[in-house]
Amino acid sequence: VKGYLEKIKHNAHLNAFNEVFEQEALTRANDIDSRIQLGSAGKLAGMVIGIKDNICYKDHKVSASSKILEGFTSIYSSTIVERLLAEDAIIIGRCNCDEFAMGASNENSYYGPVKNYADNTKVSGGSSGGSAVAVQAGMCHAAIGTDTGGSVRQPASFCGLVGLKPTYGRISRYGIIAYASSFDQVGPITRSIEDAALLLEVMAGPDEYDSTLAQKPVPAFSANIKAPGKKKIAYLQESLSSPGVDAEVKNTLSKYIDKLRAEGHTVNPIAFDYLDYMVPSYYILATAEASSNLARFDGVHYGYRSPEASDLQSTYKKSRSEGFGKEVKRRIMLGTFVLSAGYYDAYYAKAQKARRLIREKTEEILLEYDFILTPTAPEPAYAIGKEESDPVVTYLADIFTVQASLSGVPAISLPAGNNSKGLPLGLQLITRQFEEQELLNFSEYFL
Ligand code: GLN
Repeated sequence: VKGYLEKIKHNAHLNAFNEVFEQEALTRANDIDSRIQLGSAGKLAGMVIGIKDNICYKDHKVSASSKILEGFTSIYSSTIVERLLAEDAIIIGRCNCDEFAMGASNENSYYGPVKNYADNTKVSGGSSGGSAVAVQAGMCHAAIGTDTGGSVRQPASFCGLVGLKPTYGRISRYGIIAYASSFDQVGPITRSIEDAALLLEVMAGPDEYDSTLAQKPVPAFSANIKAPGKKKIAYLQESLSSPGVDAEVKNTLSKYIDKLRAEGHTVNPIAFDYLDYMVPSYYILATAEASSNLARFDGVHYGYRSPEASDLQSTYKKSRSEGFGKEVKRRIMLGTFVLSAGYYDAYYAKAQKARRLIREKTEEILLEYDFILTPTAPEPAYAIGKEESDPVVTYLADIFTVQASLSGVPAISLPAGNNSKGLPLGLQLITRQFEEQELLNFSEYFL
């Protein structure tokens, strides 16, 4: 813990943490140390973890990196925090992220962007950018993020780490600040597959407080990692042909395809008819759900209340106008619009149908193939402040990650070396529902 605290101080300029639980982590380390001596410590004894600042931890602040939750303290712990603590993990602090997990560069945080450790002028990725950089810079051993449309996988890829989004329904969301509930999943960001497996098995499994969870038993993922046999892998042909994908990203993908073939796996290009509908469907559905989930931040129940508020109407209007950032407001408006009478059928209902088709097509591919291989992101970490006048350009960069989110299937981002400028690149593997074990096994031997 002392070593990590040193690194945190040394790397404060990276802005990875919104708060560090220094004293608590030191005290806990002592307690756990005595349990280790007694031989009664849990599976994660001594594992020092950062948690994304949208995960509730009793009697600790939680802000979702938003002004609207400034000063708010959680009155209960999320299920995952309880499970991590029960296995003797040490939570060292809460990590910076995009406001309410909306974004892909961590630049939408009220607390400012997170800097990539590989190049401080570049973004961390997002929305779990603080979690990724905390691990990348050695400020903790592993971190927990949330992934709605790529927010664990994409920052992991920008930081050269492993990022796992489990199957929808694998890990409890009780005590996670909701963004888009039909997508949100918790996932680990780690240096190794073994750690991802261990954290998954500790956090996963039924929870009486989250009715969306599968009742399936949780395998001992970490103990069961073993060499996979020969596999069939599909890759989207557009990932090698689209002008929107960076040349070095394409080269890396090609290199890995060659390597897999040389090792005796079958790797085939496939066409995905609904590729162009993935990002629009995701953003219509995610913003619709967000507009509803964020209605609770009204200046009355939680956090910030405008000092100018004089009656109920102005409390709502002023607190929300002053408390939410630009991107969050944009999404609340977009989501409210697609759900409004007269537009519901044209947008929300259409996007639901498109989602169904995307899911069915994805499942169909995964009947024939064991994995779908893609780049995690079309380009590596880009410059902080690269002002995009059109947010749609930023949204389109989620093209490879939203497929698994729309389909509810598990996906992992794996480090795939650095580009010529020393920036990490990542590749993504997608597989069938609840087949995380296969995903982890293959990942371990694929790297
Ligand atoms: N970039 C996507 C979005 O902004 C994904 C975010 C996430 O997974 N939380 O919605």
